[in-house]
Amino acid sequence: MTRHHVYITTTIPYVNARPHVGFALELVQADVLARHHRRRGDHVRLQAGTDDNALKNVQAAERAGVPVQEFVDRNAAAFVALHRPLTLSVDDVIHTGRDPRHRAGVERFWRACEASGDLYRKHYEGLYCVGCEQFYAPAELDDGRCPEHGTTPQRVAEENWFFRLSRYADRLHDLIESGRLRVEPAERRNEVLSFIAGGLEDFSVSRSVARARGWGIPVPGDPGQVIYVWWDALGNYLTALGYGTDDADLRRWWSAADRRVHLVGKGVVRFHAVYWPAMLLSAGLPLPTEILVHGYLTADGRKISKSGGNTVDPTALVDAYGTDAVRWWLLREVPRVGDADFTHDRLIARADDELANGAGNLVNRVISMIHRYRDGRPSALPGPGGRPPALPGSDGRLGDEVVVACERAPALVDAALGAFDFRAATEAVRAIVDAANRFVNQVRPWELARAERAGDRDAGRRLDAVLAVSLDACRTLGAELSPFLPDAAERVARQCVVVDGRLPAPSPVFARLARR
Ligand SMILES: [Zn+2]
Repeated sequence: MTRHHVYITTTIPYVNARPHVGFALELVQADVLARHHRRRGDHVRLQAGTDDNALKNVQAAERAGVPVQEFVDRNAAAFVALHRPLTLSVDDVIHTGRDPRHRAGVERFWRACEASGDLYRKHYEGLYCVGCEQFYAPAELDDGRCPEHGTTPQRVAEENWFFRLSRYADRLHDLIESGRLRVEPAERRNEVLSFIAGGLEDFSVSRSVARARGWGIPVPGDPGQVIYVWWDALGNYLTALGYGTDDADLRRWWSAADRRVHLVGKGVVRFHAVYWPAMLLSAGLPLPTEILVHGYLTADGRKISKSGGNTVDPTALVDAYGTDAVRWWLLREVPRVGDADFTHDRLIARADDELANGAGNLVNRVISMIHRYRDGRPSALPGPGGRPPALPGSDGRLGDEVVVACERAPALVDAALGAFDFRAATEAVRAIVDAANRFVNQVRPWELARAERAGDRDAGRRLDAVLAVSLDACRTLGAELSPFLPDAAERVARQCVVVDGRLPAPSPVFARLARR
């Protein structure tokens, strides 16, 4: 088996506020991909971080009456504090405001693009949304307002550094259209292609120190200017690997890596699929291989926002419902394209239906039956290769269905995650539970046990086979669930391990959440 090097990144959030559940979505998706690749034997680095150098951080700190660094550090810590409750397998975190790797790398990147002749100074006037940290053309606004924030952008006029984006339009178009730079889903790729086809203009990559309130990384050789926060932030994907400080990691995880995967929200596609690849081309560096774009979460039908008063704190959700239920909802209900609406009722219903009543019930009843009928001692799966012989009567077909669901799951999960489709991937795992629960309901092992007690030895043999097939389904469930719900997967797996000839006593794998 070839062991690939796979580098997976999340975007680095602004730390102007505490994290909400929308960002938890991206973290969980990235974690699932990382765990999936590790399971398949790949070398994986899952990278996270925080975007400390934004003007909106400065403004939020001023509103809070807290020194900027203190404010930024406090919120940055709140983002990192999500990793444990969400069971994230993050390998490294970079804080752009204080990590010594970052500034050195951003400066090197700047100089590399300067050496390519892609940076120049120009007077500029434009409409700037501080919320987005980006200039908008008048045609891009909704009634003069930012399409993301609904706020009126401010008019800014100053002399800035510009990046020659226009020079890269044709190459970017070819790279994306040919799939050498994959943008998923296709709907997003098409948006990017039509944006490029509409013509790319050079963009401003610095601002005056005064407008940046002295916060951020100065332009090398021009201390009156601060590097544009998006330039600075995008650089984190390289500076975290030691670009500018340690070339060995950079080679392993970027230049020579098999896959360089960015997970991003739909609002920042342009930065990642247009600006960033052009910057990399200019600096002479390889591009990401994939940009995977997710939609947004709404809460109770409204966009999640502090001003809307409907932020949903992911840590509070985990406290209330547990990690598995929160991860499961994010993975099951958010579509591949488009947004999903979060409500507590939906989370509870999904977890109770599919986890407690589905997977939990299956594991519990199978382990309980093996204790009741076989004193906790399962018989081995009969037949060559672990595949049971056809069971007599209608049971045979049903048993086959369970075996097929188990056998198909790994390839289905591979394909679905390859297509960035978390719903389809979790559905393949859920299909095991469905098939196995249906099987148990239809073969009615308790009737086989009764017949066996009445002296029917054939019924006893069939009961052994039924329990073996069911236990095998539980084991497969434990294995296949692991990238999605690592905690629950471990509980399921533990229930299926024979110690000194016996299975552990049955204990619930999932608690029911709904109050009855
Ligand atoms: Zn905006």
